[in-house]
Order: sequence, then structure tokens, then C-alpha cells
Amino acid sequence: MAKRAARFKRRGLMFVLSSPSGAGKTTISRQLLADDDNLQLSISATTRPKRPSERDGVDYHFVDHGGFERMVSNGEMLEHAVVFGNRYGTPRAPVEKALAAGRDVLFDIDWQGTQQVYSKMPDDVVRVFVLPPSVEELARRLHTRAQDSDEVVAQRMAKAADEMSHYDAYDYIIVNEQVERAVAQAKAILTAERQRLKRLVGLDGFVKGLRGGA
Ligand code: 5GP
Repeated sequence: MAKRAARFKRRGLMFVLSSPSGAGKTTISRQLLADDDNLQLSISATTRPKRPSERDGVDYHFVDHGGFERMVSNGEMLEHAVVFGNRYGTPRAPVEKALAAGRDVLFDIDWQGTQQVYSKMPDDVVRVFVLPPSVEELARRLHTRAQDSDEVVAQRMAKAADEMSHYDAYDYIIVNEQVERAVAQAKAILTAERQRLKRLVGLDGFVKGLRGGA
């Protein structure tokens, strides 16, 4: 996609996508990132073991408990939480750098992390929750994924109900019945949110120019 020079400065936004596992959030995230030059993924740190398909530094920063704890105590995490018995957290520095440069950041984090980033940076955060179309479809998607053990799948199914109870702490809801439509809805939200007055930090000078310096 061609990049257009901005005529005035805009602050980046934090686009948070949460859902129970199996709702299709990862597919939606990948598509958004592939189609949008100005959107980058926040790469979380986690103590969870790497899955075969994952790459360190691309999908996650895989760290041990000591490394994770050091990042927390050094104040390097914007938020962190325990999910399914493992620790997950968002490194702060890349996010702050991106926002200041007018780049948008996509977060695949749970409801606990969403609450923390929202309480710290309410003006920057756009909260989107992805729901599966039915409980049967959720179960089917969790089973076909099958990268985790049966035990983990069963655990995630039980946790999905709990995760979904937090839908009302989000700004937008996407029901992922058909992935193309869900992606289009996410893009529409992103497009609209980029035009919010509060993000257009260079607008005042631009309008002054339009008004002939008045
Ligand atoms: P998974 O292990 O399947 O990649 O992710 C499990 C859950 O952890 C997902 O709901 C995902 O959104 C959440 N998660 C991933 N990274 C972070 C993070 O940095 N912070 C928080 N709070 N949750 C995360």
C-alpha cells in the first residue's frame, strides 16, 4: 500500500484486540498488519513455552521467570498479567516510540492487560473485543488448532467463558462469523479512530495555515 506524506502530525493509537482463544483474533491481527504499513504489532514477553510454529522475537519474546521479573521490576512493562498460569507482558519502550512517531500499535492482550493500559493511557487506547459466532464454533476452532495438548484445550474452553464476561469493558465488538467481514470491520474502526481530533496534534498549525495565518 502506498504511503502518503502526512500534512500534519498525528499521535499514534493503541489498537487493542482481545478475545477468548479460538475466536479468530490472530487471523484478524495478521491480516490487519499485512494490509497496513502504519500498523505494527506489540511483541509481548511471555514465560509460556514456545509452540512449534512460533518464532522468538517475532510472535513473542520468550523469557524465563527471572527475565520476566527483571523487566517488571525495572519498570519496563506497560502492563503484565498471568494468563493460563503463564506470565505475559507488554514492553513499554517500543510502544512509546511508535506513538510519538505517529505509528499505530496493535496489541493482542487479554482483558487484564487492556484494563491496565486503558487506565494508564486512556486517550491512546482503542479497545476491540472479538466474539466467536457460537459456542460450537469456538469449540471447533480450539480443537482444529491442536497445537496445544488436550488438557490445554480443555482449560482454554473453560477460560473462554470467563474471558467473554469482560466484553462490556471494550469500546467495539466484532462477532467473527466470517473472517473477511471481521477484518473489514476492524479496518473501519481503525480508519475512524485515526481521524479523532485528539490524535491530530499538529492540526492547529495546519488550520492556521489554511486560514492564512489568522
Ligand atoms: P497465547 O498463549 O495463546 O498466545 O495467548 C494467551 C492469552 O494471553 C491471549 O488471550 C492473549 O491475548 C494474552 N496475551 C498475550 N500477550 C499478552 C500481554 O502482553 N499481556 C496480556 N495481559 N495478555 C497477553
